[in-house]
Amino acid sequence: MRGTFFAYLGLALVGLLLIYLAWLVLAAIWSVFDEWMTSRELDSFAREYAEKRAERREADFGRLENGCDHDFSHPLGALPLNVCRHCGLGKDRPVGGCDHVWRVRADPIPSSACEKCSKPYPMEEPG
Ligand SMILES: [Zn+2]
Ligand SMILES: [Zn+2]
Repeated sequence: MRGTFFAYLGLALVGLLLIYLAWLVLAAIWSVFDEWMTSRELDSFAREYAEKRAERREADFGRLENGCDHDFSHPLGALPLNVCRHCGLGKDRPVGGCDHVWRVRADPIPSSACEKCSKPYPMEEPG
């Protein structure tokens, strides 16, 4: 009886050990796979970012070459900072989808709005 019990115990221990080893191997494989996936993701992310930057630089190049004798000083205060008061273009491309073209509004309060997306400046207080 005793012998059988120890035999079963031994088998159980060996089984547990095997499961543990298998788990270790799987964990190792998974971590390698995970690292590979992460690095791949980072790679593609970095590539996308570089591409976007290049595109942006290309788009920005010649952006201000529209024949306008830009004047980025605006004593009226109706335009956002670094916006040409002749053509309404910003000195730098603004963040977001719209390359705003600011137009001073006929308003007693110095203000303007984007011709393309009608974003107001200064920002209107909500409510
Ligand atoms: Zn201009
Ligand atoms: Zn706009």
